[in-house]
Amino acid sequence: MTETECIFCKIVSGEIPSAKIYEDEDVVAFLDINPTTKGHTLVVPKKHVATFLEADDEVVEKLIKASKKVGKALVKAMNADGLNVGINNGKAAGQIIFHLHLHLIPRYADDGLKCWPQGKYEEGEIEKIKDKILKAMQGEK
Ligand code: AMP
Ligand code: ZN
Repeated sequence: MTETECIFCKIVSGEIPSAKIYEDEDVVAFLDINPTTKGHTLVVPKKHVATFLEADDEVVEKLIKASKKVGKALVKAMNADGLNVGINNGKAAGQIIFHLHLHLIPRYADDGLKCWPQGKYEEGEIEKIKDKILKAMQGEK
């Protein structure tokens, strides 16, 4: 998808309307039109980048800082009991819109949502996976 076709770029530029609740030089936040819970918000860097893993550290830093600010106000405004903070990264992880965005999902004691199913490791598997990741980490800054 090019930036000119990107729906979140269009929201950032104002070409498409949104229920915007925060804006600074680098980031905007607006309500998700199909909310998981009431107040579900998307925090979006103004500069187009497809995924979290491709984003510059500077962009990530600005996104996270703005998300904390917006998240605090959101919990207060919605009288929420908790907040899920998440980024879908890639199609297999449920990403539909390929312009980086962070979901802020207010949680309520009685909302009935169950987020992550939990599994088990086979004997010795956790060590092997740990070693694989540690090896990959050596190539990262
Ligand atoms: P993701 O699956 O992480 O890519 O999430 C995309 C999110 O964008 C979904 O939760 C949609 O409901 C939301 N969404 C799509 N179009 C709009 C829009 N025009 N305004 C606000 N939220 C939107
Ligand atoms: Zn975009």
